[in-house]
Amino acid sequence: MEISEKMHCLIIGSGPAGYTAAIYAARAGMNPVLYQGLQPGGQLTITTDVENFPGYPEGIMGPQMMVDFETQAKKMGADIRWGMATKVDFSTKPFKIEIDEEKWIEADSVIIATGASAKWLGLESEERLNGYGVSACAVCDGFFFKGLEVAIVGAGDTACEEALYLAKLCSKVHMLIRRDEMRASKVMQQRVLSATNIEVHWNSETAEILGDKKVSGLRIRNTQNGSEKEIPLSAFFVAIGHKPNSDLFTGIIDMDSEGYIITKPGTSKTNIEGVFACGDVQDKTYRQAVTAAGSGCMAALDAERYLGALAFQQAQS
Ligand code: NDP
Repeated sequence: MEISEKMHCLIIGSGPAGYTAAIYAARAGMNPVLYQGLQPGGQLTITTDVENFPGYPEGIMGPQMMVDFETQAKKMGADIRWGMATKVDFSTKPFKIEIDEEKWIEADSVIIATGASAKWLGLESEERLNGYGVSACAVCDGFFFKGLEVAIVGAGDTACEEALYLAKLCSKVHMLIRRDEMRASKVMQQRVLSATNIEVHWNSETAEILGDKKVSGLRIRNTQNGSEKEIPLSAFFVAIGHKPNSDLFTGIIDMDSEGYIITKPGTSKTNIEGVFACGDVQDKTYRQAVTAAGSGCMAALDAERYLGALAFQQAQS
């Protein structure tokens, strides 16, 4: 294996976690190199307005916010590159990482910030109206539909939590459950079922999201008898789970049963010393831009301490 380059700190992924790690690592003199991955900017590039990230009192478009993060990281001296990690070998130090199936590089420390991807139903109308009333994040986008009628699909804890969040803002929430029972915990189910403005549609699936330029309604299908009906509404939220983008590290980095990277509580440390994880790839609970950014900061600080100790050890030997 020919090594084409050697670096102190490699960051994989370019959402709020990766860019924040890059800003901190660059300012700490670690000369970080960040590979942006398949979707530079991550999940925020597929949302519209962001109004809950502190520091933007007028709100900001998600894609623009990610351009700002990138600009700031570059300004601090981070080396931001197109390309993705396609293989890793963490069995020996320095770590070895294959980029774009083309070349191998070496890194003394690695920060994994590969994020997660929302699962989608896969409907054409869902893709076309994404950002125009279709969203996979009620906390991000629910506010734009204050006082209006909306729908949410999913029957897990996330769907229940988001339905309850929406119920506080919206006039009515239609919840589509594909079976005759919910997967969510009992307590969450009870809260949903006792909310006066949530209507649960059992045995119901989404046939189509209606609307030309923005969501105007929903056609739902009964999974038992195939009958369909239309409901006029303004937004459609998808809450059928997320998938962490961690496949690259399977069998190498410790993960839970759903593929989320396990970090030592209160830190960004993984089971491999010198490899850190931050953002949604290790967080299935909060999943916010601001929490991802915070954990990116933690990863850079953890990596800085690790590199400091490594340099000390090397100087002694
Ligand atoms: P889950 O995997 O638990 O639930 C996904 C839900 O989406 C299921 O009800 C599933 O239906 C439904 N679904 C999947 N595909 C489709 C589809 N194509 N059409 C319609 N419905 C579909 O994901 P969550 O994000 O809800 O939760 C992930 C984890 O995070 C869980 O362990 C959860 O407990 C945890 N969590 C905990 C919270 C808390 O404690 N406060 C808050 C949020 C999450 P079906 O049941 O029929 O398979």
